[in-house]
Amino acid sequence: MTQRREFIAQFTVASTALWACGVQAAAPLVADSDPQAVQLGYKSDASKVDKAKFPKFAAGQACANCALYQGKPSDAAAACALFAGKQVAGKAWCNAYAKKA
Ligand code: SF4
Repeated sequence: MTQRREFIAQFTVASTALWACGVQAAAPLVADSDPQAVQLGYKSDASKVDKAKFPKFAAGQACANCALYQGKPSDAAAACALFAGKQVAGKAWCNAYAKKA
């Protein structure tokens, strides 16, 4: 009986971990055409930022080194405080960029 309980407990932990990974992986990437993205000048590839329209942009700036990026700098994509329920690309940029301290 103890073995059965242990198995159920381990199965529950494993299932919860898998579910959590699945939820995180399911968050869609922000599209450049997303209305909020357009408003913020978001580009999934920072090299494509319209520098005339967004003169604040400087080479080397990207979501991966922005204070609002919620992943590790090495992550290809992660959540951003400005785009709830979605992920931004690490090499993206938007006009709300703030250099990570
Ligand atoms: S606020 Fe920062 S992390 Fe979020 S989209 Fe803009 S540049 Fe990227």
